[in-house]
Amino acid sequence: MDLFEYQGKQYFARFGIPTSQGGVVTSVDAAINLANQIGYPVVLKAQVKVGGRGKAGGVKIAADADEAREEADSILGMDIKGHLVEVLWIERASSIAEEYYASFTLDRTAKLHLCMVSARGGVEIEQVAEEDPDAISRLYVDPVEGLSAEAALDVVTKAGLNPTARDEAADILMKLYRCYVEGDADLVEINPLILTRDGHVHALDAKVTLDDSAAFRHPEWESLDGGQDTDFREEMAKARGLNYVGLSGSTGIIANGAGLAMSTVDLVSQVGGSAANFLDVGGAADADVMVAALEVINSDDRVRSILVNIFGGIVRCDEVARGILEAMHRVELRCPITIRLDGTNAVEARQILADHLSEKLIAEPTMLGAARRAVEMASA
Ligand code: GDP
Ligand code: MN
Repeated sequence: MDLFEYQGKQYFARFGIPTSQGGVVTSVDAAINLANQIGYPVVLKAQVKVGGRGKAGGVKIAADADEAREEADSILGMDIKGHLVEVLWIERASSIAEEYYASFTLDRTAKLHLCMVSARGGVEIEQVAEEDPDAISRLYVDPVEGLSAEAALDVVTKAGLNPTARDEAADILMKLYRCYVEGDADLVEINPLILTRDGHVHALDAKVTLDDSAAFRHPEWESLDGGQDTDFREEMAKARGLNYVGLSGSTGIIANGAGLAMSTVDLVSQVGGSAANFLDVGGAADADVMVAALEVINSDDRVRSILVNIFGGIVRCDEVARGILEAMHRVELRCPITIRLDGTNAVEARQILADHLSEKLIAEPTMLGAARRAVEMASA
């Protein structure tokens, strides 16, 4: 689950990471009241779960109440990369001397936590990585050993942070690491982490992605999921207990097993298509699960073709085939469906499907063939 900036800052605050004093509002009048209370100048910031708000005009400084009214009025209701701005975060404006970058995430290949620090903050880190990769200092942290104060100081020094910023920045890194580990986050990012003109370091922005698998440990997370700005397909899938991740392509995917589902997404790209989603129906690929899966995929109007890729291990392909046919009676599909079934009882499964094949129901014996066919149908 991604948090809004203001939620991220509240999360940071619990771990002692300094941020600017502020609050959220949803109307222009409330914005003025809050800005008056905070004292000018203030920064008004669109709360949307997407980066680059600054460039899009979603972050503005106001020197007085008139400016605050003008900016609040223009930002509320704004569309930023397809996200409607309904909430504003207003905080005391900081005077910035330098902008840095700091983050923790998991490097799955290294099987270690990865800390990245850069003196080139404020711009998107992907852009820095491309233009000037040496400007990012990396520190791998062994989860068993944790992060030492020495290592934290070392990485901010290597990153070339201003000497006056180093101690506070290293201290923030220690706190950010705790926030990441104890807070069960997949990603914590501060961009920019600033050095103020009076020589202090604090977080001006907050990006926090919580690890949904840890939700059972955090009943308090319920209140963070405001239902706002979430992908309706993912909401729908969640309500049906499906393991679904929305993507932006046109080929809807149903597979069993996370590994097979991921390779199906890859294969669709490899043959020139793009996946509309990742969906793992797990071990029980029966009619009810297929109905749930097809309902979610069918509700996504980007989807122009559906690819079902099932490998029968414990689950038998003939049962899956019957399930698909029954599901197709219950859900009226908008687009063609290509099915690849292999493994246990695949021959029987193909016989079951044989009588029902049409332009809208295609069976392909191989994964590659099925992917090609499904992508072809998506662009037809
Ligand atoms: P993002 O564009 O979505 O990443 O939003 P940020 O919160 O990172 O803000 C974008 C930029 O706005 C920052 O890099 C700063 O340059 C600027 N900005 C944000 N808050 C302040 C502030 O309090 N004072 C000043 N002077 N600039 C700010
Ligand atoms: Mn930012």
